[in-house]
Amino acid sequence: MNILVINCGSSSLKFQLIDSESEQVSAKGLCERIGITGSRLVYQKAGGEKQITESPMPDHKKAIQMVIDALTDQESGVVSSLSLIGCVGHRIVHGGERFASSVVLDDQVIAAIETCSTLAPLHNPANLTGIRACRELMPDTPMVAVFDTAFHQTMPEEAWLYGIPYEYYEKYGIRRYGFHGTSHSYVSKRAAEVMGKKSSELKLIVCHLGNGASVSAVKYGQSVDTSMGLTPLEGLIMGTRSGDLDAAIIELIAHREGRTLEEVMEILNKESGVLGLSGGLSSDFRDLEDAYCENVPQGVRAVRAFVYRVAKYIGAYTAAMNGVDGICFTAGLGENSALIRSLICDYLGYLGVQLDQEQNKKRGQDTIISTPDSKTAVLVIPTNEELAIAREAAALLQK
Ligand code: ADP
Repeated sequence: MNILVINCGSSSLKFQLIDSESEQVSAKGLCERIGITGSRLVYQKAGGEKQITESPMPDHKKAIQMVIDALTDQESGVVSSLSLIGCVGHRIVHGGERFASSVVLDDQVIAAIETCSTLAPLHNPANLTGIRACRELMPDTPMVAVFDTAFHQTMPEEAWLYGIPYEYYEKYGIRRYGFHGTSHSYVSKRAAEVMGKKSSELKLIVCHLGNGASVSAVKYGQSVDTSMGLTPLEGLIMGTRSGDLDAAIIELIAHREGRTLEEVMEILNKESGVLGLSGGLSSDFRDLEDAYCENVPQGVRAVRAFVYRVAKYIGAYTAAMNGVDGICFTAGLGENSALIRSLICDYLGYLGVQLDQEQNKKRGQDTIISTPDSKTAVLVIPTNEELAIAREAAALLQK
């Protein structure tokens, strides 16, 4: 079955068409600047060149129409008609407590996703716009929602509670939810396969290190803790997000800098993290690694602080699970940066971690990067959230 996987943001839409049997991507692309000037579709058929079509996209419906037109185009398309797309899988950021797994979309589910929008006011409404546009244009195609939060719904209460009056959880659902769940789930399953074991017998720590970054503790196949919280702001120091901090800082910045609460939140989300720490040098780790290697102080401090925070979470999750069998690195930085992996592993002597420096140089493939006698295994597992969504969709429709 051909499954169209859609990840819809407020002004962008990423898509992949995946064959659920072969698990190959037949085409993929991106609509940019939806609803603003200069909108364009970037489309690429498997093995083909990127094609760029500049055309006004006043809304998501027009964007999805352009995606459908490209996929069914006689020359550059990959399916002869819309009816050959068997299912659409939508990535949804927040499923609250309502969704602990993926679901087939219907009116009730859409209404429930709407109620979760208070928890993710930037993301869920954009995801819903994509769902509505697809339903209008493909009314007969089944659709599935896959939630970033769902995998972490197995966390025990002590891991998801904040130390604030309990009534705020009861009244507003203020608790830790966690994100990147599709990736943490996919990577932990794959790591078990690579280690030749069952997930049900392993304690794993997954480090999803991209622009947004999170760590999770996956015990016997279930998430028992993760570093992001109510929103994706908590946890690690990220590209531009602060991660964990003392809440009193918010008031202090607002007072001293004469900023509103909204402005301070913008600073914590968009101007902080390694970008802020490096004095604005870069949020991109390729630049920061160069700066680190050249001993540029701004780069050195940003990289050190980032690495330390990851190592600290690994320690915390080892304690939470009373041990760890494997530590997995994934996402842009986790998959590609031998330096960052090595600096993190420098903290893990107490786990008997020994890196194989040659294996650590590899990229883009499932690899055990620790030596055979390392007490704890360390792995690189490239994530594939789109494939995970397509698998979820196919499995749900087969039920
Ligand atoms: P997101 O999906 O959250 O936007 P990605 O998973 O694509 O993020 O990761 C982006 C990050 O990965 C960037 O900071 C980028 O610099 C880093 N990255 C990508 N390739 C490399 C590389 N070869 N070396 C170091 N960092 C890299």
